[in-house]
Amino acid sequence: MMPTAAFADAIRELPELADLRDVIERFGDRAETHVLATVRHDGVEFPIIGVVVGATRPSAPTLALVGGVHGLERIGTRVVLAGMHTIATFLTWDRMLNAALADLRVVFLPLLNPVGMWMRRRCNGSGVDLMRNAPPHPDASATPLVGGQRVSNKLPWYQGDEGAPMQLESRVLCDFIREWVFPARQSIVLDVHSGFGTVDRIWFPYAYTRRPFPSLAEVYALKRLLDETLPNHVYAMEPISSSYLVQGDLWDHLYDEHGDGRSPDTRHRTLDQAHRLPREPRYRGPFLPLTLELGSWLWVKKNPRQLFDVLGGFNPIRPHRLRRTLRRHIPLIEFLLRAVAGAEIWSVFDGHERQRMESEAFSLWFT
Ligand SMILES: [Zn+2]
Repeated sequence: MMPTAAFADAIRELPELADLRDVIERFGDRAETHVLATVRHDGVEFPIIGVVVGATRPSAPTLALVGGVHGLERIGTRVVLAGMHTIATFLTWDRMLNAALADLRVVFLPLLNPVGMWMRRRCNGSGVDLMRNAPPHPDASATPLVGGQRVSNKLPWYQGDEGAPMQLESRVLCDFIREWVFPARQSIVLDVHSGFGTVDRIWFPYAYTRRPFPSLAEVYALKRLLDETLPNHVYAMEPISSSYLVQGDLWDHLYDEHGDGRSPDTRHRTLDQAHRLPREPRYRGPFLPLTLELGSWLWVKKNPRQLFDVLGGFNPIRPHRLRRTLRRHIPLIEFLLRAVAGAEIWSVFDGHERQRMESEAFSLWFT
């Protein structure tokens, strides 16, 4: 249960929190609700809430849905809430999902940055862009401005002060993922954003470099699985670095920390080195942090007047378009539930197979 009385003001201020309260009620005792932190702003106490459903055994395969990292991108939170609503309702009658959750965990962090959402800003209450706030990678380069800047918290994409600890919201996300996702033997995260381009993109790491990340074979296998299972899906799947380079991306940070079962000295290997290194037996499946970047330029193109609304560049405004967006991604969420539960079927390869997957992926995405 969500302690609604303590957050009555916040729930009144933010309709997304009222929807979250309702969906938590729908889960009933099938969900564990955690108030991960509270952020006080203008006399209002905003909760950051995590919800855990299904298997509590640490190694259970885990899907995490995250939203509301950027306050302006309300649609990300709405998409996660729509997914929660469907899953909560399935659990009241669907034997298949109930049975699957004996060895499958689904965790939700639908609104990481409630103050930003309330202020109608991308950043948090201190002006920091949470997706630029992780310690910068020593080899990182970044696209000017959009890739992160330390000039001023009055400008977008502010990374925070040099050497300062990470913002509360960033730490909450990292701790939540460490606690509920890292121990899983295989896991997928979907962090829902909006604002870039005209198509819906599924981005995978790295954001800090154009080099491929070590789970290239696994993410390529997932792309092929998606293409075969939902042949008419709407997504373009690609590394985030093909759009821009970013410093301090929290998913890069978590991905490298997780290590994905690799020994530390092979974590940052290049693809070439990877081909020369002896293969270690793999005891753990992948940790794939994906970002769903909804292509909001299409909504603007179809309804240019919405550019005059501060939220209009990032969210569908007309009701029919909002409904279409909310139903559009349910099949992806259901696909990812099944994909993570059965990851040992599609993501474990012998050395030769892995090499073939990596080189196909490399020619698709990195040449
Ligand atoms: Zn975003």
